[in-house]
Amino acid sequence: MLIKNVHIQNESETKDVKIEDGKFVKIAPTIEASENEQVIDATDKLLLPPFVDPHVHLDATMTAGDPEWNQTGTLFDGIRIWSERKKTLTIDDVKTRAKQAIKTQVANGIQFVRSHVDVTDPNLTALKALIEVREEVKDQVELQLVAFPQEGILSFPNGKELMTEAADLGVDAIGGIPHFEFTREYAVESLNFLVKLAQQKNKLVDVHCDEIDDPQSRSLETLATLALETGMGDKVTASHTTAMGSYNDAYTYKLFRLLKMSHINFIANPLVNTNLGGRFDTYPKRRGMTRVKELKEAGINVAFGEDDIKDPWYPMGNGNMLDALHMGLHVGHLMGYDDIMNSYQLVTTNGAGAMHVSDHYGIEEGKPANCIIMNNDNFYNALNERSEILYSIHNGEVLVETTPKKVTNNFKG
Ligand SMILES: [Zn+2]
Repeated sequence: MLIKNVHIQNESETKDVKIEDGKFVKIAPTIEASENEQVIDATDKLLLPPFVDPHVHLDATMTAGDPEWNQTGTLFDGIRIWSERKKTLTIDDVKTRAKQAIKTQVANGIQFVRSHVDVTDPNLTALKALIEVREEVKDQVELQLVAFPQEGILSFPNGKELMTEAADLGVDAIGGIPHFEFTREYAVESLNFLVKLAQQKNKLVDVHCDEIDDPQSRSLETLATLALETGMGDKVTASHTTAMGSYNDAYTYKLFRLLKMSHINFIANPLVNTNLGGRFDTYPKRRGMTRVKELKEAGINVAFGEDDIKDPWYPMGNGNMLDALHMGLHVGHLMGYDDIMNSYQLVTTNGAGAMHVSDHYGIEEGKPANCIIMNNDNFYNALNERSEILYSIHNGEVLVETTPKKVTNNFKG
């Protein structure tokens, strides 16, 4: 396959990209097509590495309104409603909904997904189902699973045993939820436990960390210290960290030194953070998102996730990272022209960094041919116009092809 005349990641000069045996084999200003080679004319189009959703909950997806809608919109009511729905889970139920969500993600150019899976369930039904899904989709989508203790590790019966069992069943990463544990001491103990478990079982770490508008919620400093002292470094991700949006500046200044030293990744979830955040405020009402701009400026890897697709925490969502990105740029005041132009990194390479897949991700000769072609010449225009994903190519195979819609506009301006 040969992609002709494409703008790679906003470059003004166009290039040709040759794909053979599932890999990018040559990227150069001009490459001749060989006989019978499939040629994609990508004149005035944009080539990006595929979108990455590094934080989503595929076990709960598509359950919004079942058994009830979350009318208060708080995280805690979401957990309560999910706890009821969880009792009725079956393997087929989870697999059907998860695949439905993945299909919409794929249609929107996503090829790499990290899903948290609630393991505060004595039967681990959702995890067993998603392990099957991970295997069944693996030729087209790289799916990572995180053992996520939705109702706590120390604060849920047999929480530690369930986490260990989940690790042995074959998750990719170990999760946590320190801000939901009963006490600060439990929060610290849960972090010590989960990092040790990850080390023992050779897993990554991705913790729901300080997802609360409480400036006293400071599990992040413990997680970053563990990442630093164990040497796990960039194998560790702190998701949400919304409390950082409420920390005072003196404490945050001190914290950033540790964050930089620790090399941990951050994932913000702009759609869900703004939905769940500020719910206990009257006015002024907080924005609910972590300090994305400051993290970026400090050279710390930060990515965006979608988090929830039609579930008890978020009644909307359609597997489109451009929605999360659009919201995040507004809420994070990332509205400089260059910020917007380069913002695709927040939903591509930075997410790949958090998922620890950078060794086989990116548009480079020798790497697997995973990419998307957007129907515009640069990302500023593509984001504003919500340009179609003309092609999503995975390991050199066309995964999605979109025909642009045709509009007849009779405006006489
Ligand atoms: Zn989450």
